[in-house]
Amino acid sequence: MSTVAAYAAPAPKAPLERTTIERREVGAHDVLIDIRFAGICHSDIHQVNEGWGRGRFPMVPGHEIAGVVAAVGSGVTRHAVGDRVGVGCLVDSCRECDNCLRGLEQYCTGGNTLTYNDVDRHGDVTQGGYSKQVVVDENFVVRIPDALPLDVAAPLLCAGITVYSPLKHWGAGPGSKVAVVGLGGLGHLAVKIAVALGAEVTVLSQSLRKRDDGLALGASDYRSAADPATFTELAGKFDVVLSTVSAPLPFDSYLGLLGTRGALVNVGAPEEPVSLNLFSLLGGGRVLAGSMIGGIAETQEMLDFCAGHGLGAEIEVISAEEANTAYGRVESSDVRYRFVIDTATI
Ligand code: NAP
Ligand code: ZN
Ligand code: ZN
Repeated sequence: MSTVAAYAAPAPKAPLERTTIERREVGAHDVLIDIRFAGICHSDIHQVNEGWGRGRFPMVPGHEIAGVVAAVGSGVTRHAVGDRVGVGCLVDSCRECDNCLRGLEQYCTGGNTLTYNDVDRHGDVTQGGYSKQVVVDENFVVRIPDALPLDVAAPLLCAGITVYSPLKHWGAGPGSKVAVVGLGGLGHLAVKIAVALGAEVTVLSQSLRKRDDGLALGASDYRSAADPATFTELAGKFDVVLSTVSAPLPFDSYLGLLGTRGALVNVGAPEEPVSLNLFSLLGGGRVLAGSMIGGIAETQEMLDFCAGHGLGAEIEVISAEEANTAYGRVESSDVRYRFVIDTATI
């Protein structure tokens, strides 16, 4: 075991504070990572606030981890000391179920292990990336291409893969029209990635406040969801509507934006249920789908895609002490577009 500095929430809804945690010894198939940057995902805030259910405290959040390999176990073949690497939301899975065998570890039916707020196969409570170091099985560590700076790469490990996977699955590409709902951490990467895939992208935001940013990210149109005309003018226009919103949305209105057999894909994880009139699906044979992060191989594919397109997150690098303020700003949709903690400040 080694003692590592970290930032943790000591109790539900409590501010994060400096602490130390224990990391396990580097096993034969483990990689020790010196964490350089950790992104702040809205999911961190949902979990610290116990918005999704009971959490394990003290909790070190952080599942957008970018760093450098400091040591490897004797059996490690995929990574070497000095490699630039990343870890996302998963640090283990059963590796035997159909989904694991298909590279869908995020849907592991045998039980996967989240990077924090979970219990791993050793019986230890997992602790995340707001810390100096982490020990992770080599199979759940991905390579960060040289073209991507570590700070702008960090948010790709959750936000990036969470939007890349459904955009690919639902066919975003040349000739397709995609609407991205919510221009936050996930949303701004959805715009960049959908544009890079070749789709025509419209942003639907709560207001026109961030319009210039959205257009600069590559969107060809930017509309306010507060304006009822948005829903009449854009009715039936999209093949895919991707909702990245952290709060309940009136899905019936957004389903009306879809063309025949179009798909509203939700990746937002609001703390309250939403209501739905099922007739919104019947007309036009519309689809309502969900998606959760992505598998390990697809995460590597996404990083390589982003590097190939010179594409990373728009970030504000902060010190660990600023994380509590950053949480408040994320909650009030005041983020442009991802806070990333410089772990040298922990
Ligand atoms: P974020 O940076 O806070 O972005 C969410 C955006 O949603 C905001 O910037 C805002 O965009 C919009 N929004 C917020 N409150 C709203 C409201 N009341 N009504 C309408 N729009 C609202 O959060 P994030 O890190 O991107 O995460 C977004 C959601 O996805 C969270 O619930 C998170 O837990 C979830 N998530 C899911 C997965 C998955 O695997 N499915 C992975 C990561 C995160 P505008 O200001 O442009 O309106
Ligand atoms: Zn996340
Ligand atoms: Zn499995």
